[in-house]
Amino acid sequence: MTDKTYNADLSRRHFFGKAAAAAGMAVAPGVFLRQVHARPADQAATSEQRWGILIDTDKCAKGCDSCVTACMDENGWGRADASEDKSGPHQKAQWIRKVTIKDKQTGHVQSLPLMCQHCENPPCVDVCPTGASMKRADGIVLVDKHICIGCRYCMMACPYKARSFVHEDLEDQKVVAPRGKGTVESCTMCVHRVDENGTPACVEACNADNHNAMYFGDLKDPNSEISRQLKQYGGKELRADLGLNTGVRYRGL
Ligand code: SF4
Ligand code: SF4
Repeated sequence: MTDKTYNADLSRRHFFGKAAAAAGMAVAPGVFLRQVHARPADQAATSEQRWGILIDTDKCAKGCDSCVTACMDENGWGRADASEDKSGPHQKAQWIRKVTIKDKQTGHVQSLPLMCQHCENPPCVDVCPTGASMKRADGIVLVDKHICIGCRYCMMACPYKARSFVHEDLEDQKVVAPRGKGTVESCTMCVHRVDENGTPACVEACNADNHNAMYFGDLKDPNSEISRQLKQYGGKELRADLGLNTGVRYRGL
């Protein structure tokens, strides 16, 4: 597998910093940067961490979509007033979605949130012709909207259907998550929060609702809550057979 691991080196961070200063500047047709709110420019992501999310499907409540709503609010996609009306029902933005799976043998039904799995070996990165699809040193997989040409190869390569394409001009975007017509997008693991030692919005919302079905943390830190939970109770990858070593894990499957 081609190693296109993206190291968020300082020069690139400075590039984003300069771009952020040019509020409202168009970087590609339909792509406007309002502001990039990220970690301090002198601190690059490092491979000392690998960020991950553990989802306990036994605690994930059927019919609850607090995580989805929180992601929409945080990152400004799928809003009723966002004019995302040119996309068909199967084309709309879906950074995170609730899915229901049924065990064919036992009939057991489970509800779980599905987003980018932040693969260690991401097929979306392998097929990207421009390098827009990238993986940071800390495992977070992102799309660089500046160089995404909208070919959508990554959407076809992703086995989790975790990415979507922006079909329309957008207004009133969130400063932390600029989106653009003609580019591909997916869950960023709320990188703007992570870079400020925060917790992803979906995880926060799940906890606020007292479901406590989602854990976020550093998979490389044996003392982190997510590592302790994984060690004690286990956790599986969706489609582990693909060998992608996902950063998102599930318990109760
Ligand atoms: S889940 Fe899909 S979009 Fe996310 S890293 Fe893996 S292949 Fe890429
Ligand atoms: S981590 Fe952030 S971007 Fe990813 S699904 Fe959760 S709220 Fe959305």
